[in-house]
Amino acid sequence: MRNKLNFYDFSLPKLQIYLSDQGFKKFSATQAFEWVYQKGEKDFNNMSNLALKVREFLNDTFTFQLPTISQEHISEDGTIKLLVELKDGNLVETVLMRYNYGNVVCVTTQVGCNMGCRFCASGLLKKKRDLSAGEMLGQVLLINEILKNNNEAKLTTHVVLMGIGEPFDNFTNIIDFIDLLNNPKSLEIGARHITVSTCGLVPKIKEFADLKLQVKLAISLHAPTDEKRNQIMPINKAYPLKEVIAAVKYYEHKTNKRITYEYIMLKDFNDSLDDARDLARLIKGTNGFVNLIPYNPVDEHAFARSPRDRTYAFANALKKMGVQTTIRKEFGNDIDAACGQLRAKEEEKRGDID
Ligand code: SAH
Repeated sequence: MRNKLNFYDFSLPKLQIYLSDQGFKKFSATQAFEWVYQKGEKDFNNMSNLALKVREFLNDTFTFQLPTISQEHISEDGTIKLLVELKDGNLVETVLMRYNYGNVVCVTTQVGCNMGCRFCASGLLKKKRDLSAGEMLGQVLLINEILKNNNEAKLTTHVVLMGIGEPFDNFTNIIDFIDLLNNPKSLEIGARHITVSTCGLVPKIKEFADLKLQVKLAISLHAPTDEKRNQIMPINKAYPLKEVIAAVKYYEHKTNKRITYEYIMLKDFNDSLDDARDLARLIKGTNGFVNLIPYNPVDEHAFARSPRDRTYAFANALKKMGVQTTIRKEFGNDIDAACGQLRAKEEEKRGDID
């Protein structure tokens, strides 16, 4: 028997095409989606309003494949961090953060990462492979199961593609995943409640802009000049800041939306008032706002967290120069919640990192 396909890998548009290619009605896809995502039915035989032939075909073709939970850590602040095991044994991380406005799930998009940012734990392990749309959705479904079992009032309300990996290096699958999150026939999470974060793959920023999705886009800037950014983000050599800013302008023009610039505060590297001035100068002429991120130190890297007062001074300087600025709230510091740290530690135990 051939290997069955994972139903969760199919967005509604993809299943519609797939079924109509097989000679079935597109509407069967919508009906199957309603059964699975609204009624929680996983047995195609029970999908009573579907024609017998469609049910048989779905049965022969699809299975429901969810990743499994290898470790679950719960922090004092309610943050949940999962070490998730994929079908082939690879490990990824998923985090649930509880903001006052909702439950935010941080999703991993790749096993490892090739971007090589010098401050990041994820890149300690090179990319092994991309995650499928269903493996990304599976992370959200696992968190929802936990919330349901706790009888919590809300399931996942927001999703950020900020776990391990570079989402724009896995473009097709994240677009399917976003549809699965957003579509009223599947999870129905509002587009404005979904954020994609990229280290700055310029051609993909443009391609993303052309799709005119209503989801939010964040760019990991982390340095205000090419000279500094080259030192911490190798991707800057391929796509220097001038091109990143041009892509931001293109995005703003196409979508009428504002970008978030993420900026990790690294002690004595990018946290001086001169850096704030350079940053304001760099992004002048775009509508983006700045989110300052407290650094989560990673043992293998030399960077340290910028002191609180310096972070506040930096934020105030930016505000005075007319740049809208926020400081990111921190979660789950007691459970290695920073991206990639849990997985890196587990792989270290298994002997995958020297
Ligand atoms: N590859 C994407 C998304 C994953 S990282 C990107 O680069 O945007 C999500 C965010 O966490 C990025 O802004 C990333 O730079 C930041 N980050 C990585 N390591 C961090 C650390 N140790 N402390 C704080 N933020 C970190």
